[in-house]
Amino acid sequence: MKLTKLSILLFSTTTALLMCACSEAPKLATVIEKATAVPLTKTSLVVLGTIQDAGSPQITCKESCCKNLFESPDPSRKVVSVGLVDVSTNKTYLIEATPDMGSQIKKLTQLEQNSEIEMVDGIFLTHAHIGHYTGLMYLGKEAMDAQHVTVYAMPGMRDFLENNGPWNQLILQQNIAINALKADSSIHLSGELKVTPLLVPHRDEFSETVGYKIQGPNKSALFMPDIDKWEKWERNIVAEIEQVDYAFLDATFFDSVELNKRDISEIPHPFIIESLEKFEGMTSANKKKVIFIHFNHTNPVLDSTSRAYKTTINKGFRIAQINEQFEL
Ligand SMILES: [Zn+2]
Ligand SMILES: [Zn+2]
Ligand SMILES: [Zn+2]
Repeated sequence: MKLTKLSILLFSTTTALLMCACSEAPKLATVIEKATAVPLTKTSLVVLGTIQDAGSPQITCKESCCKNLFESPDPSRKVVSVGLVDVSTNKTYLIEATPDMGSQIKKLTQLEQNSEIEMVDGIFLTHAHIGHYTGLMYLGKEAMDAQHVTVYAMPGMRDFLENNGPWNQLILQQNIAINALKADSSIHLSGELKVTPLLVPHRDEFSETVGYKIQGPNKSALFMPDIDKWEKWERNIVAEIEQVDYAFLDATFFDSVELNKRDISEIPHPFIIESLEKFEGMTSANKKKVIFIHFNHTNPVLDSTSRAYKTTINKGFRIAQINEQFEL
């Protein structure tokens, strides 16, 4: 059965009525969470996840970073993603399709004015690593069996989806419709919101990798969750930060300690300590734009009482927090 937006609405309304008739009243926490999701009145970006691809807790991790989280999960630990709410069109867009996509779409669509449908109007992909595209599985037959969800992807990412199962089934069944992106070429989502993919160096086994520049009516943002060392990028990251209002940047690891002192020059991410050094000469206004994101389960900045967290904040930078909203 194909689920159109209308049938999803009817289905969810019917299901809700049936559930009310035969199950317990929803827990208080659920009610409070719903009540606090106030629809936005200004076009904004919202942080929906901050963790590296493999999540937190990470499979088989017995260290202090994860050992208690298997029994007591932390609801703020979702895989990296940001959402866009365009109030001029009452549409929502997701950047990244993570394994946590279900709850992230729920959260995002609660922030739009008319949120009954609970589905986004488009999904932008950055690359073919597990945390960034596998959420597409929830659009297929075994899950919502969506119809024509627009997925924005670069040519290599599109080829990967078109030529590999089970992803090509999403295309054949028309669960998704791919809208091809071109590097440096903007997609105008409305008169007040445009998104531009920027190619970045990364381990490109299955697809190229992009970050996105997002331009709203008044402010702009850079979203770059995965990149090799800053020096390998053809653009100057400091100049790019100066041109935007917010810069969400790859902060997978803080330093080498969490990796048992492996040589950090060989790890293909900019360590937070390397970024702090590179950005040291920036003005405090520019430093404040930097919002670190995409934290490995081992990253000490996940704990706001850690020395790493305090060092980063005291130097004038920011650590991304789930549900934080940024007006564009
Ligand atoms: Zn990643
Ligand atoms: Zn861990
Ligand atoms: Zn990656």
